[in-house]
Amino acid sequence: MTACRVCGSHISEPSYEASAPALTSMMAFIDIPTLVYVCDECGHAQCADLPDIESFYDTTYRISLESDDHDQVFAVAADGTPIFRTDHQAAIGLRLLDLPQGTSILDYGAGKADTLRKMCMARDDLHPHVFDVSRDYVPAWNSWVKPENQASYRVPDAWAGQFQAIISHFVIEHVAEPVSFLKTLRGLLAPGGRLLLSMPDVAANPGDMTVADHLNHFSIASIKRALALSGFMLETVDSTAFPGAFFIVAVCCEQPVTSAPDRQEAAHAAKKAREICAFWKQATIRLDDAAKQFSGKRAAVYGSGFYGSWICSRIEADVDFRVFLDQNPKLQGSVHFNRPVLSPSKLDDDVDVVFVGLNPLKARAAIAGQAALHRPGLDLVWIDG
Ligand SMILES: [Zn+2]
Repeated sequence: MTACRVCGSHISEPSYEASAPALTSMMAFIDIPTLVYVCDECGHAQCADLPDIESFYDTTYRISLESDDHDQVFAVAADGTPIFRTDHQAAIGLRLLDLPQGTSILDYGAGKADTLRKMCMARDDLHPHVFDVSRDYVPAWNSWVKPENQASYRVPDAWAGQFQAIISHFVIEHVAEPVSFLKTLRGLLAPGGRLLLSMPDVAANPGDMTVADHLNHFSIASIKRALALSGFMLETVDSTAFPGAFFIVAVCCEQPVTSAPDRQEAAHAAKKAREICAFWKQATIRLDDAAKQFSGKRAAVYGSGFYGSWICSRIEADVDFRVFLDQNPKLQGSVHFNRPVLSPSKLDDDVDVVFVGLNPLKARAAIAGQAALHRPGLDLVWIDG
């Protein structure tokens, strides 16, 4: 039994369980089982707590190819040009927040704060502030954020109620107590201040459900509930600008938010989350069967992201797994879990089977355009059957 991280309801049993190891967003394996719980009351899905941080980093595999570039490439344009995540986030943020002249804005959980830096390049009237739980980013901040507008580990008391806007990109999914996290942000906003959050949309990218360090898998219903419980009103949801993610804007309310939660929306979200859990159960069985079926065969995995890494962990004991294929030019030529990452067009003729490690909602369209994968005698294995 566990308690919902959003509404506190008891959840009696997990909707998905898999034995160790679990895979993290940094594509490292950690020696814990994967447990996903779904809350019927508010439509939230969540993973179990992580063990202490030392265990978290005591990994079977270590990150092999994660670099800034890799993290920052959000998509690859048709002409092969990488599109950087922070450029895209900055543009979405400027559009959704439509900030008044001279806004005092905080990037909370900023990292290097490239998103805010790019927003300020477009809008030199903004007053940027940055916070993170590390000092590693100070050198990156120093060239464009005044020292008094930087904070590490702890937000200064003087910042309470000071900001017209806060942005926090891909942070809330990692937080064990999202309602108290949101209350902290609310305390930093001036009355009427606005919050822009981004987070994975598990309904659009089912792989997110089993990412071990994504403790929260929000639905629209559960983020609404979390916002209401922390004194925010949801203003805008954008689930199309950034594939696989929600961007939301919420406004800080003077009065407590008392509107009744939408039961139907919550029930629908819980049903959807359970369907995704069922998908993973089936995918695991399917992949284990395929690994046996192709035992000893020469294999490649298409996609060196989360899905491909997960496939690697399930098949490498059985098949002769040689190479990852990835259309991201920033990854080609690198090594992932001891295998080279190649352009799909470089697939060797002697490979017998390709396991497709892509978001199943997009995999077939992506593979349809890859001529090298449609040669006679080459088997394709899909995680969704
Ligand atoms: Zn709940």
